[in-house]
Amino acid sequence: MKEWERIDLSNPTDEHKMLRQMIRDFVKSEVEPQAQEFDRDEKFNIDLFRKLGENGLLGITVPENYGGSGMDSTSVAIVNEELSYSDPGFCLAYLAHAQLMVNNLAYNGNEEQKSRILPKVCSGEWIGCMAMSEPDYGTDVLGMKTSAKKDSDGNWVINGRKMWITNGSIDESGTPADICWLYARTGTDENGRAEISTFIVEGGMNGFHVGQNIEDKLGMRASKTAELVFDNCVVPPENLVGSIGESMIHMMRNLEIERIGLAAMSLGIARRSLHEMNRYATEREAFGKKIRNFGQIQRHIAESWAEYRAMKAYVYETARNTNLSESGNRLDTDGVKLFATTSAKNIADRAIQVMGGYGYVGEYIVERLWRDAKLLEIGGGTLESHQKNITKDLSKNPESIQK
Ligand SMILES: Cc1cc2nc3c(=O)[nH]c(=O)nc-3n(C[C@H](O)[C@H](O)[C@H](O)COP(=O)(O)OP(=O)(O)OC[C@H]3O[C@@H](n4cnc5c(N)ncnc54)[C@H](O)[C@@H]3O)c2cc1C
Repeated sequence: MKEWERIDLSNPTDEHKMLRQMIRDFVKSEVEPQAQEFDRDEKFNIDLFRKLGENGLLGITVPENYGGSGMDSTSVAIVNEELSYSDPGFCLAYLAHAQLMVNNLAYNGNEEQKSRILPKVCSGEWIGCMAMSEPDYGTDVLGMKTSAKKDSDGNWVINGRKMWITNGSIDESGTPADICWLYARTGTDENGRAEISTFIVEGGMNGFHVGQNIEDKLGMRASKTAELVFDNCVVPPENLVGSIGESMIHMMRNLEIERIGLAAMSLGIARRSLHEMNRYATEREAFGKKIRNFGQIQRHIAESWAEYRAMKAYVYETARNTNLSESGNRLDTDGVKLFATTSAKNIADRAIQVMGGYGYVGEYIVERLWRDAKLLEIGGGTLESHQKNITKDLSKNPESIQK
């Protein structure tokens, strides 16, 4: 066999293989046993989250000199896939911290910000969130109204509300995240477009609080979602990230790893759903036969297998081609999220169908995966936003199709 024929895109090096085995063992012993309970009770398992820090996963992409593990996009996909095999809700809290906040700081913050904050967020001492969406602006993010104005002392005064923020609150009593990566409007540029700047808001800063815990979500119930309020919140000048109006660069860089992370979560959901329906189809009998002998059940299993394999190849191929330090892979990071999220939802749906009434109840897991999968078609960009971006990119670069 030639060297290139041996490459396994999902475990390209021994380091990736070991990471997958480590997280798989952790998931089996620590994540799986608590998943149903924390989903039912809509609670975020903070103790378990901090154990991810002990295992070097909270700062997975952060250079080692700041307390991280210095790993790549493929490693992010591996961790998210494995966690979501058992608990996508818990994984969403992990993604909001490790990819939306910590990775963003590692690649866009300055030296002072990185050395002061990264060790705390890599260990899990501090829990982070990223606040972009607002009650009236989601997809249309550049319309955001949250504003930051400089006062006479040189501090930034922030006013506005952010909506749907994962880890915005970390418990039932509304304790805010320890650290919030915040996008706010600082003005309008010469072309009339919003000038958006990035700020680091720390728990305990005056005027930063949780407006409401958003309860009773369809899925992802093991992660907390909150509305955050900034009421004359005073942020010191050293907490501005980069220069004024630089947020587009931060957003573009970070959205790509976010989308790979969300697509990899879909892959975990798909693998687990396939495993459950395949096992059940062998155990269950009807009309004196194993149900896997029925053609309609075979269609559910076989189509799920083919889609799962296609997702897996696309997720790891995209991860391999995504450089954490620069943007440039929007076409495929949008493409893979578009394909993988709906595939995961459909595979979880087929698993419920194959398992009949049992598939519809919590103990059999797949109903939870189906509920969790739906969020992936909305968060981190809706399906429609991916369709819009892909069509735009293919219009600009039609040669991408021929590559
Ligand atoms: C559980 C959960 C966790 C989340 N976590 C975070 C987080 O941590 N941080 C954060 O900042 N945000 C977070 N979000 C917000 C999420 O990113 C937004 O919900 C998402 O971007 C969509 O925005 P919206 O809900 O305002 O819907 P809208 O943007 O109002 O969209 C409504 C519908 O209109 C469609 N639409 C809008 N514009 C167009 C267009 N131009 N063409 C075609 N269709 C269009 C959309 O695709 C959608 O179908 C979270 C959301 C949820 C539900």
